[in-house]
This record gives sequence, C-alpha cells and structure tokens, in this order.
Amino acid sequence: MGKTYILKGDVARPGRIEVEKGTTLRQIIDDLGGGMANGKAFKAMQIGGPSGGLITEDQLDLPLDAKALAPYGCRRGDGVITVLDEDRCMVDVVYSFLRATQADFCGKCISCREGTKRMAELMGELVEYKADDAATGMLLELGEVVHMTAFCALGKGSATTLETAAAAFPDDFQNHIEGRCPLCEKETRLPIAPGDGIPYDRKRIVIDPDKCKGCSRCARSCHAEAISGELKSPFKIDPDKCVKCYTCIELCAFGAIEEVTIDG
Ligand code: SF4
Ligand code: SF4
Ligand code: SF4
Repeated sequence: MGKTYILKGDVARPGRIEVEKGTTLRQIIDDLGGGMANGKAFKAMQIGGPSGGLITEDQLDLPLDAKALAPYGCRRGDGVITVLDEDRCMVDVVYSFLRATQADFCGKCISCREGTKRMAELMGELVEYKADDAATGMLLELGEVVHMTAFCALGKGSATTLETAAAAFPDDFQNHIEGRCPLCEKETRLPIAPGDGIPYDRKRIVIDPDKCKGCSRCARSCHAEAISGELKSPFKIDPDKCVKCYTCIELCAFGAIEEVTIDG
C-alpha cells in the first residue's frame, strides 16, 4: 500500500492520491494528476506545505522519497503537493505559503512566531513592489535566522520555499524589486491556497496501536518530548505537548503515525 498525499494546484485532476514507492514526481503529475491543466507548461512543484520546498523541472525524475528530496529542502510535511504552471509568479506563491504559516504553526516559540510574521510582512511588501534589494536581502537573512533558531521542523522549514524559489526563479524576484511583474499583471486566477484546509486546532497526530512496534524511534526524535511508551509496546502522543511538526510521521518505518481531524 502506498502513502496518501493531496495533489492540488495546476493539474488536470487534483485530489487525494495514493503514491507507491518509487513513483517519480513526473509520474505524479502525468499519471496520477492527469497532466498539467489547460495545456500549460510546468514551472515548479511545492512539496510539504509551509515547511516544504520547491522542485523544478530538472528534478522531476526524482522519486517522491524523503531521502531523495531532502537535498532540495522538501519533506513530507502536511502531505500536500502543489503543482504550479508557467503563469505562476513565485513571489506571489511564496507569499501565499508564508501567510499560511500564521495559521498552521503553533506559535509556542518566539523565533518562529515573530520571525514568520515579519517574513510574511516583508514578502507582502515585495508582492506590492515596495521592497528594494536591501529589504529582500533582509527577508532572506531573517529566513536563515528562523531556520537556525526555531524549535521544531515546521519552523525550521518555514523559509525553505522562499529560499528555493529565490534561487530557482531570480527573475520573478527581480521583477518585483524593479516594480513590474508581467506574470502578476496577467494572472487572473485565484491564488494558490496552501495546505489541506484543516485548521490547526482540529489536527491531531496519533499513533495506531495496532501498527506500532514499540521501537521508540519517534520518541527519540520528538523535540517536544510529546511521545512516550515502553519498548515493544504501543507508544502514545500527548496532544498537549505535540506541536504537529510531522517529524515522527516521516520517521516511523511502520506507517503507524498519522494526522487525523478531530471535531471542531
Ligand atoms: S514549536 Fe515549531 S511550529 Fe511552534 S512556533 Fe516553534 S517552530 Fe513554530
Ligand atoms: S516509530 Fe512507529 S513503530 Fe516505532 S514507536 Fe514510534 S509509532 Fe511505534
Ligand atoms: S509528536 Fe510528532 S508531530 Fe508532535 S511534536 Fe512530536 S515529532 Fe512533532
């Protein structure tokens, strides 16, 4: 059985997909997503939501695999894959993802809470052609600081989409610094809405006791010390301590940990 993801954005058939081991990113677009929508060309693919990163055309033959994608800043994260076509401005896309951090992150640590807020403000200024070279440089530096000082993987990855977009699509950023973006001018569609649409307080990370082998790997990797248990018995997650960083889901070799939605 494969892993479940949500495929969205500029593909012909967005929706919930089951991805078998070894499936390449290109196969995800062409076979599972029915190809690019409206005959447009591929520009980038965002994997992992607000703490994930951007994949470009020359990386599409990589498999959807944590080890293969880690060098590109991508992680499973919220399990959402967003495909972006040639008409998307990456400055606008990054702004959408940075704004999503405000709803998706728990706000427990100052670095992430205040840092991502300021990053979103600076990004908003860039979108509106109000940020110059220096302000854009400050935005990238702030992303590095948050990466180094945030408590969990969610905060640490909050600037990865920005960093990968700035490196791969410098022209989009330069257009906004210079005050005119042809893509934003012609764009008439609704902006990309990152995430799975479930509010933070309705998400919960849980361990399935029938699948858990009691190996303790998740507990040893949880920065929030939210996971406990006895070796060779099912482990448990304390929802009051869990910051929903997805690290344990990515690490469990038995697929015993999942995100569930609770009644709101
Ligand atoms: S615990 Fe994680 S998600 Fe919460 S504010 Fe800190 S870095 Fe952000
Ligand atoms: S990593 Fe998976 S199998 Fe191991 S204790 Fe955690 S939930 Fe159980
Ligand atoms: S329990 Fe899992 S999702 Fe929650 S904080 Fe720990 S590692 Fe992150």
